[in-house]
Amino acid sequence: MPLRLHDTLTRAKRDFVPADPARVTMYVCGPTVYNYAHIGNARPVVVFDVLFRLLRRLYGEGHVIYAANVTDVDDKINRKAAEEGVPIGAITERYLAAYHADMASLGALRPTFEPRATQTMAAIIAMIERLVRADAAYAAQGHVLFDTQAYPDYGRLSGRSLDEMIAGARVDVAPYKRHPADFVLWKPSKSGEPEWESPFGPGRPGWHIECSAMIEETLGLPIDIHGGGNDLIFPHHENEMAQGVCADGHGRGYANYWLHNGFLNMGAEKMSKSLGNVALVHDLVRAAPPEALRWALLSSHYRQPLAWSDAVIAQSKAALDTLYGALLRAREVEVEGEEPSAPFLDALLDDLNTPKANAELFALAGRLETGSPGERARAKGELLASGALIGFLGAEPQAWFQGGADADLTARVEALIAERAAARAAKDWARADAIRAELTGLDVEVMDGAAGATWKLKASAA
Ligand SMILES: [Zn+2]
Repeated sequence: MPLRLHDTLTRAKRDFVPADPARVTMYVCGPTVYNYAHIGNARPVVVFDVLFRLLRRLYGEGHVIYAANVTDVDDKINRKAAEEGVPIGAITERYLAAYHADMASLGALRPTFEPRATQTMAAIIAMIERLVRADAAYAAQGHVLFDTQAYPDYGRLSGRSLDEMIAGARVDVAPYKRHPADFVLWKPSKSGEPEWESPFGPGRPGWHIECSAMIEETLGLPIDIHGGGNDLIFPHHENEMAQGVCADGHGRGYANYWLHNGFLNMGAEKMSKSLGNVALVHDLVRAAPPEALRWALLSSHYRQPLAWSDAVIAQSKAALDTLYGALLRAREVEVEGEEPSAPFLDALLDDLNTPKANAELFALAGRLETGSPGERARAKGELLASGALIGFLGAEPQAWFQGGADADLTARVEALIAERAAARAAKDWARADAIRAELTGLDVEVMDGAAGATWKLKASAA
C-alpha cells in the first residue's frame, strides 16, 4: 500500500510520490520564540514528527530532510525584550531553549535544519531583489510589497478570489498598496528595533518571505511536503507560494503536497489569553506523563479539530496504562520480530490515520495477553515496533507505572505484593485483604493478571 496524503491545494487524497526518493524534503512552519509554546503550537510539531518518522522508515533515515524555521525577528519579541529590559537575543535564546526542551519531552525528533530568520537575511534580501526584477514586487514609501496581481494563481491554495479578498480587507488599507491584498516583503524598522541594510533601505523582512527564502536555501524548489496548521493556509501559505513561485521563475512549483492540521480547542472554547485558558506545554509536561500528552495529540485524526481537556489526557494515560500493563505482564515473553504490524502501517499510510493505528496497538496488546505462546512472541515484537515507529512504548513498563514513586516506596510495595501473593497461595484471604487495604492506603492500585500482579500509583498521588 502506498503512502497517501491529503493535499490542501488539490483538495484530494493523493499517492505520495517524492520528486527524488533519495532526498525527500519536508518543511513545517516553526515557532516565533517570544514565550512558552502552548499545546496548540505542539499539535503540528507532533503530527509532522509522525510523518517525518514514517518517511524515514519508507525512504531511509538519511534520505529525508526536514526543515522548520525559527522566527527570531518579530514585534512580539521586541515588545517582550523592551518589557524586561533585556537584549532581544536573550529573549529568543531563552524561549528557543524552552521550546526544544518541551518538544523533546513530547517525543518530537529535531528537524534536520532549523534556520533562523536572523541568519537567513542575505537569502531573504536576494529573493526580494529577484521579485522586484521580475515585476512581482514594488517599492513604496520605504516598503517593498508583493504585487498579488502579478501571480494569476493567487488565492488558489486557500480557495479565495481576489475580489473576496478586497471585500475582506480592512477599510484602512495602507495608501502605498496597489491592491488591498498586496503584502509586505520588507519594511522600515521603528526606532530602537533591529534593522538590516538592504538595497531598499534599512529595515527588516515581513514574516512570509522568511519561509520562502529558507525553503529555497535549505531544501530547494519544489519541496515535496509543506506542512502547518490550518490557520496558516491564508494568508501565510498563500503568500509563501506566490512569492516562492514568482521568485523562482522556472515554473518548478513550490510544494508538491500541502498538509494542514486542524485546530486544537480547549473543550468547546478557543484557547485564548483573554479567556485565561492557555495551556502551556512547559506546565503540562510537569503535571502529566509527556507520553500521554503525545497520545492525546494523536488521538484525533490530524485534519480533524481536537478538543483538549483533562478528560482527554486521563483517557490517554489510561490507554498507555493498558498497553504498558500488557507488556509488564508479558515481561517473560521473548520478542519475535522487530517489524510493525501490517494493519498498523496501513493505518499510517492512509493519510496518517493515528486513531486507527492506536486501535491496532490495543489489538496487539490483546493478542499479547491471551494468545498462544507463538502468537504472544509475535504480538510483543509487533507491539513494540509499532509503538516505537510513532514514538510510544519506549519506557520500561515498570518505570511507566512507577512514575513519581520513590525507591523506598517501590521496595515496600513490591514486598507487600509478594507477601499478598504468598497469603493468597496459602488461601489466607483475611491476610491478603489486609495487605490490599494497606496498599490502597499507600495510593497504590494493584492489577491482577494471568502472569501475576502489577501495580501503579493512583492518579491522585502521581
Ligand atoms: Zn511559514
